[in-house]
Amino acid sequence: MNGQMMQQPLLISSLIVHAERHHAEQQVVSRRVEGDIHRTTYREIAARSRRVANALAALGVQAGQRVATLAWNGYRHMELYFGVSGSGAVLHTVNPRLHPDQIVYIADHAEDQVLFFDMTFWPLIQAVASRCKTIRHWVALTDRAHMPPAEQAAKLPNLLCYEELLAAQSDRYDWPALDENTASSLCYTSGTTGNPKGVLYSHRSTLLHTMAAALPDCLGAGAGDCILPVVPMFHVNSWGIVYLGPMTGAKLVLPGSGLDGQSLYELFESEGVTLSAGVPTVWQGLLAYVDAKGLKFSTMRRSAIGGSACPPAMIKKFLDDYGVRVIHAWGMTEISPIGTAAAFKAQHVGQSADERLAVMATQGRAIFGVDLKIVEEAGHELPWDGQATGDVYVRGPWVISSYFRNEGGDPLKDGWFPTGDVAKMTPEGYMVITDRSKDVIKSGGEWIGSIDLENIAMSHPAVAMAACIAAHHPKWDERPLLVVMKKTGATLTREELLAFYDGKIAKWWTPDDVVFVDAIPLGATGKMQKIKLREQFKSYVLPT
Ligand code: ADP
Repeated sequence: MNGQMMQQPLLISSLIVHAERHHAEQQVVSRRVEGDIHRTTYREIAARSRRVANALAALGVQAGQRVATLAWNGYRHMELYFGVSGSGAVLHTVNPRLHPDQIVYIADHAEDQVLFFDMTFWPLIQAVASRCKTIRHWVALTDRAHMPPAEQAAKLPNLLCYEELLAAQSDRYDWPALDENTASSLCYTSGTTGNPKGVLYSHRSTLLHTMAAALPDCLGAGAGDCILPVVPMFHVNSWGIVYLGPMTGAKLVLPGSGLDGQSLYELFESEGVTLSAGVPTVWQGLLAYVDAKGLKFSTMRRSAIGGSACPPAMIKKFLDDYGVRVIHAWGMTEISPIGTAAAFKAQHVGQSADERLAVMATQGRAIFGVDLKIVEEAGHELPWDGQATGDVYVRGPWVISSYFRNEGGDPLKDGWFPTGDVAKMTPEGYMVITDRSKDVIKSGGEWIGSIDLENIAMSHPAVAMAACIAAHHPKWDERPLLVVMKKTGATLTREELLAFYDGKIAKWWTPDDVVFVDAIPLGATGKMQKIKLREQFKSYVLPT
């Protein structure tokens, strides 16, 4: 017997319809590439998203076709999120920090039809346009006054101006009643090995993920919040925040290209931001700025940090010095992206600061919808005893089932997605990631978790950033080598740093050597690129 409830598909358009009806006057504030601060509302964004949908029809974009963006976090990009997906096309958010060859590769692979870009990326567009085979229209996300100079523009046929494109369209449009399994957006993983692979989300997966992300033990967002996603809209849909705003009625503050400490801090304060989200390296810049100037956050209370391990020292600093609670979260492009978040359980109330910090420093527990297990090599599940370490497998309605165009074959094992991460689980169900399987250091057949070693180094006051990689060792095969970037003006020796490990870790885990570098290479999503460091130090000879 079926239940007798309405069949209503879960659609991305319903988010903006809801926001227009129930949070029409709520603000969306953007730092524009034109240089000013722009203010709009959900009412306006809803109307302009409908113009986008009409414009796509006028450009001949058909259901299921891919429409690309190369853009920062801003209201125009947000209009595309709803206009493109809502009308039944697929929004392909391209990471502008990728190498131009990779951008050409993925635009061709996705068969993008139209590409919308922020003017920041005009030089990039000029460099790649003639090589992209399928893109028929290039749309600059600006008004006529800020379009490229005529002699440059003349070289790109089919260059359009976004504001003109929208002005020519009606804001009347009926969102189609799509099947909720229809593809809505496409993100490519950075592809540290092999070609980038496309992850194709559906309306249903996106809505379910957004609802879960809004839960109190995840981002915990509501209409009283003011959210500033530092995480870009080209990095897994800004972890769902651009959908979560209209769903909850929260105010959104979109920082554009201003991701330096000062620009972010100004927006936090002037707009009354209560909740933010980003990768650890961005917060490092912000904290360095706030520290140096002796500033405080007057409204910010929570900050979601993930994408790579958040050092416990950063969690502690945020809390002790600024009263900001870090929500340490874990996920990946293939999981839409959120899988776990580190929220307390009842038994943690009243625990000591150190005990609570230990909980906050884990990658957290699975949010409802994500089923998770750790397995050993043969695929057998390992116990959650806080000791056994194994590969993390996940499954759920916002977890990938296959890559776009079936790239790389079937990614699943017995219905589970192997994440490539290595972790242990506490008996209470908190996950502690020790490594990515490709970063694990194997010393004499035993694993050494590089994240632990990095976290200790980064708790030293003189260290800005630290990466731990495997270096070849004649007896043990691999031993840890610590690559360190010092804080500006700080002094620190190899011996001091190695002595700092005493008592914090099993003696044999202590790195064999330390090298100081001016900078640690960061990838397109702001994460340390250990693959580059391994390449750089592949012939490194450890001291005997
Ligand atoms: P890529 O880094 O390849 O661009 P993703 O952005 O999808 O792809 O990154 C996913 C990976 O980032 C995860 O598999 C995991 O290794 C790492 N990661 C994400 N969040 C955390 C976290 N909180 N702690 C440790 N590692 C994390």
